[in-house]
Amino acid sequence: MQLLTGKTAIITGASRGIGHGIALAFAKQGANVAFTYLSSEEKAKALEVELSAFGIKAKGYKSDAADFKAAEELVNNVVAEFGTVDVLVNNAGITRDTLLMRMSEQQWDEVINANLKSVFNLTKAVTKPMLKAKKGSIINMSSVVGVKGNAGQSNYAASKAGIIGFTKSIALELGSRNIRSNAIAPGFIETEMTGVLDEKVVQQWRDGIPLKRGGHVDDVANATIFLASDMSAYITGQTINVCGGMLT
Ligand code: NAP
Repeated sequence: MQLLTGKTAIITGASRGIGHGIALAFAKQGANVAFTYLSSEEKAKALEVELSAFGIKAKGYKSDAADFKAAEELVNNVVAEFGTVDVLVNNAGITRDTLLMRMSEQQWDEVINANLKSVFNLTKAVTKPMLKAKKGSIINMSSVVGVKGNAGQSNYAASKAGIIGFTKSIALELGSRNIRSNAIAPGFIETEMTGVLDEKVVQQWRDGIPLKRGGHVDDVANATIFLASDMSAYITGQTINVCGGMLT
């Protein structure tokens, strides 16, 4: 059974990592996928080909999620080419880690704009087609760090905590219109990014997780499929921690 047949999804930041995994998982579930990237042109082209092989409609758009006007243009283009937007996955995100004492205004602004303002930009842009269709599911990628805080990541933690407050508020505002809004808080997910870290340090992280392993991209993608599908039709305003029990 395919859970997303006939649905069109916008996924931000799908050229690499978790977004890439979500795009593939959505295509396998029958969704048409419009995805964005910022600079990874080659990877985006390759993904477009890979997704199309599942027999769905797929297209990559170079679009800066932090740019309000670009988000509006993106959604207009997707509606023109795909006809509708049923699901929005606000996945694009960056880190600029350092202690507050050393953090520059630029490091703060870049993270807040790419991680939090982007969620406002895209959500505002998709509400028009979703209100028209009288349905929609918005899924925002937060982090356990947004729930718990983390030394050396005050900008990132603030952006991810802000996402949770935004997600709940939109659930309250748009629930009566059959538009749902939920967040996912991944824990330690092993991606290309974490592959460059010292293996000993990574093993210590794994040992501290109740399920005794780092998360896979698919662990996050599966939760995203659930929130995008009608299986979660009565779930809104929630944050699902996908963290192997780390926050327990
Ligand atoms: P990643 O491997 O660094 O990939 C980030 C993706 O976002 C890339 O496709 C990148 O595009 C895109 N992107 C960055 N800034 C963008 C912008 N302004 N506009 C459009 N696209 C942009 O990151 P990841 O580890 O997969 O993380 C994905 C999401 O999960 C992020 O929100 C992150 O905070 C969250 N998360 C990750 C973990 C983890 O352990 N990995 C844990 C908790 C939460 P380009 O390739 O073109 O640069």
